Amino acid sequence: MRKLIVAGNWKMNGTRQLAADMVHALKETSLPTDVSVVVFPPSILVGSFVDCSGCKTGIQNINSEPSGAYTGELSASMVKEAGCSYVLVGHSERRSLFGEQDDLVAAKVKAAVGNGLMPVLCVGETLEQREAGDYLAVIKSQVVLGLSRLSIAELEKVTLAYEPVWAIGTGRTATPEQAQNVHASVREVLAEEYSRKVADEMSILYGGSVNAKSAGALFAQPDIDGGLVGGASLKVNEFLTICSAAA
Ligand code: 13P
Repeated sequence: MRKLIVAGNWKMNGTRQLAADMVHALKETSLPTDVSVVVFPPSILVGSFVDCSGCKTGIQNINSEPSGAYTGELSASMVKEAGCSYVLVGHSERRSLFGEQDDLVAAKVKAAVGNGLMPVLCVGETLEQREAGDYLAVIKSQVVLGLSRLSIAELEKVTLAYEPVWAIGTGRTATPEQAQNVHASVREVLAEEYSRKVADEMSILYGGSVNAKSAGALFAQPDIDGGLVGGASLKVNEFLTICSAAA
């Protein structure tokens, strides 16, 4: 059985009050026990979440280096010590706005696993790449390069997230069929590159304009194991509804 995960990526949004409200709601609401909830708040707010019984805490970014003169950065070991379990790596906003390429993504994935964090490796094509028709090759290369520094045993710490860039923050969700096609083909890539067991056991989340309305049909697809939710994760009730839809 693959792990079902619904994760909220707050990006550079949210307040201490919203964090307190979300923690309270997650504590008080009985969500399906087979769904793991993860919240990725801005790093300065992780302290609000680490003792929350209803969710795991993630960080949106780490540096790949263990320590040193990197002003403004956080290492994987610091993030682990602060109580986080997960880290986002390779998000399209990090790739496009901060110039992160696959070799750095791979180094961050390795640093995460090496320090006891579970990376959520994000992959996805731009609209141009989709329209050009070669998007599955783009996604395959992001997956293979992103995981390239891990041993087979380390792969069990990894979650993938398919986030088509054209669906992020646009209100334009991939259809359940479009998302399922990509998820199934990513699973085939994992089987070819590693093993059927790795492919069958790795959770692959969908992200891109997921909301309370679209979540059910997306999560019902056989190769979609939950979601990585941006904007809708900032609304407490909607996020809880989306979490319930993954069961
Ligand atoms: P939206 O749900 O706001 O489209 O964001 C998706 C995302 O980028 C999550 O990481």
